[in-house]
Amino acid sequence: MVDHQQLTFGIDLGGTSTRVGLYDASMQLIDCRSMITRVSAGPQSCVEEIAEGIDSMNREYSAGGAPIEVLGIGIGSPGPINLRTGVLGLLPNLPGWNNFPLRDALATVTKMPVLLESDANAAAIAEWKLGAGQSTNLDSMAMITLGTGVGSGLIFGGRVWHGMFGMGGEVGHATVVPEGLLCGCGSRGCLEMYASANGLLRLAAAAADSNDATPELKALVTRSQGFTSLDVAELAWNDPSAQRVFHCLGHFLGIGIANLINILDLPLIVVGGGMACSWNLFAPAMFRAVRDYSLVYRLATPTQVDVREQDRTFICPAVLGPSAGLLGAALLPRLAVLNVQSVNASLIPEII
Ligand SMILES: [Zn+2]
Repeated sequence: MVDHQQLTFGIDLGGTSTRVGLYDASMQLIDCRSMITRVSAGPQSCVEEIAEGIDSMNREYSAGGAPIEVLGIGIGSPGPINLRTGVLGLLPNLPGWNNFPLRDALATVTKMPVLLESDANAAAIAEWKLGAGQSTNLDSMAMITLGTGVGSGLIFGGRVWHGMFGMGGEVGHATVVPEGLLCGCGSRGCLEMYASANGLLRLAAAAADSNDATPELKALVTRSQGFTSLDVAELAWNDPSAQRVFHCLGHFLGIGIANLINILDLPLIVVGGGMACSWNLFAPAMFRAVRDYSLVYRLATPTQVDVREQDRTFICPAVLGPSAGLLGAALLPRLAVLNVQSVNASLIPEII
């Protein structure tokens, strides 16, 4: 039995799995359903599965009482997305879904207002309102998500920065190595090629090729069953070659963050995603590169890196973990009512 206050649904659409969460007004998770994203079945089929999940929770929590009152649905999707039209762009992890009108399709099936954001923006909103930014009262920040790739969300003056069509904030494709590795986006030397989980694997393989690599790192990268970023992190606790791999990642991440700070002078940069678990392994090199490459940071360098200081740039790990994307999606309808941000402005009057 739930309190029949206004609830929200959050959806975290991923290339492998999709989660649907029901949240109460204080953003506590009431229930969550996970499903495999059947990419090859097509986007309409996936939308219908999501709608079934929503419908079943609606039925379950309305049983024996008044129907639950739902403020709306927020969905975080891999980008790029045209947030003006709610139509998906060219998505490497969701082949065949290009140009699908995700927002309108979900609104049609569920008959509820739907707010769409990129998954990275949704995570940034959650960290801003309920995570690392919660106690700061800051109205501007950036979140960089280090996962399989590198995502980011930018918040300026209390609004998510979308750019012209909703594709703003692709920090993962900022150049950190001119003439560097060829990226899937067609450019070279993108941050994503070095600071993501896949980037770490590439750095580890390159490090294992060097003459001074430890036998343990060489053995890890050549073993028949493959290796993961977690394996490199475990090895790094007492292996100098694996530690250097994380220093390398931190260096490139620091250059990317230095560019962000030089251009935007943001007071808060939050680093999240699976790789953020290895913060202690890459943070020293990251801070060094930020200082080396950012004049603006040097002018506002904190006296200590792990406590936020007034009028100093604070760079810290995310606090919400893997639930940030789902939580941020569920926050969207609530923030839209407060008119805190301008996502899908055409739908806001329907919610109010
Ligand atoms: Zn790129």
